[in-house]
Amino acid sequence: MKETIGDLIRRLREERSLTEEEYARLIEERTPEAAEALQDLAVTVRRRIYGDEVFFRGLIEISNICKNDCLYCGLRRSNRALRRYRLSGEEIVSSAEEGFRLGFRTFVLQGGEDAFYTDEALGDIVREIKRRCPGCAVTLSMGERSRESYQALFVAGADRYLLRHETADKAHYARLHPPEMSWEHRMHCLRELRDIGYQVGCGFMVGSPGQTARELAKDLKFIEEFKPDMCGIGPFIPHHETPFRREPAGSVELTCYLLSLIRLIRPPVLLPATTALGTIHPQGRELGILAGANVVMPNLSPVGVRKQYELYDNKICTGEESAQCLRCLDLRMREIGYRLTVGRGDVRPDT
Ligand code: SAH
Ligand code: SF4
Repeated sequence: MKETIGDLIRRLREERSLTEEEYARLIEERTPEAAEALQDLAVTVRRRIYGDEVFFRGLIEISNICKNDCLYCGLRRSNRALRRYRLSGEEIVSSAEEGFRLGFRTFVLQGGEDAFYTDEALGDIVREIKRRCPGCAVTLSMGERSRESYQALFVAGADRYLLRHETADKAHYARLHPPEMSWEHRMHCLRELRDIGYQVGCGFMVGSPGQTARELAKDLKFIEEFKPDMCGIGPFIPHHETPFRREPAGSVELTCYLLSLIRLIRPPVLLPATTALGTIHPQGRELGILAGANVVMPNLSPVGVRKQYELYDNKICTGEESAQCLRCLDLRMREIGYRLTVGRGDVRPDT
């Protein structure tokens, strides 16, 4: 007899592995009841490892200049309407220092693929942050670079690297990117990062144009096999200056369902409730935590540039000071029975 969705969910919790077909069934045949049962399991699993703690990372958006032309992204080079900026080394380091004073112990430097940040320049910035903010972890999210570059930045002190795989399906990748970008290279970069010794994060958008349960099932299988330390997933949100301007956004419901599945596949994974989730729903980040996420990423960028880091339309938290962002998230977490915890927030062993 065919297993029910409930059976599949229970087996996933035990074995942390299903076939691609089974993952696709879990997505296609999901019901509100199944989602609730899944969410309960995900929260139990997360509590066992992380209790009621939610880690917070300071996101510093260092540049909106990008040589790439990803079809979904507002920073793509073809978007001529965007006013471009890049932060100087000193601006980046002082944003981190401000965060350090507020209690942040992890900084995520994210930006477009901007050649201005050579290995030397970026390495100096990483070293300086580590010098002025003792005990902190530095995460980079600066796209695809050479192995030598990743190596040099690791030696400079970077601890973690976020590079969403975007989709584990090659044909779908080709729909989302221009021909000069390759899925193989993206995957190659992820393996290099792992090899070098970084804590590595992959991830994908939910509801990107052309995505079906098949593609999502491949993403889940990839996560099962790659075993990332972190996994960034959030809804796709259209940007008005991209070819996908008229495509619908991904849903809160499916994003939360996938967050719960990922928690069961990989219990210790560091899983953010993303800003994109908070953008499509006023309580999106809370819903993400309640589905099994355990990380939030308040914005630490200088307020003057936040609106220009426009990956998608209507991005939230672009007007507040960093301290306000932190306080707001702290309150939101308390309201749902969780607490922000000070520390580097490293991945914990599965207990
Ligand atoms: N340039 C780097 C980091 C910046 S983009 C890189 O591409 O890795 C960070 C992430 O934002 C991307 O990985 C992508 O998944 C997400 N993103 C871009 N455009 C988006 C959109 N329109 N909706 C939702 N997420 C988007
Ligand atoms: Fe550039 Fe990243 Fe946007 Fe692609 S997703 S255009 S690499 S900033």
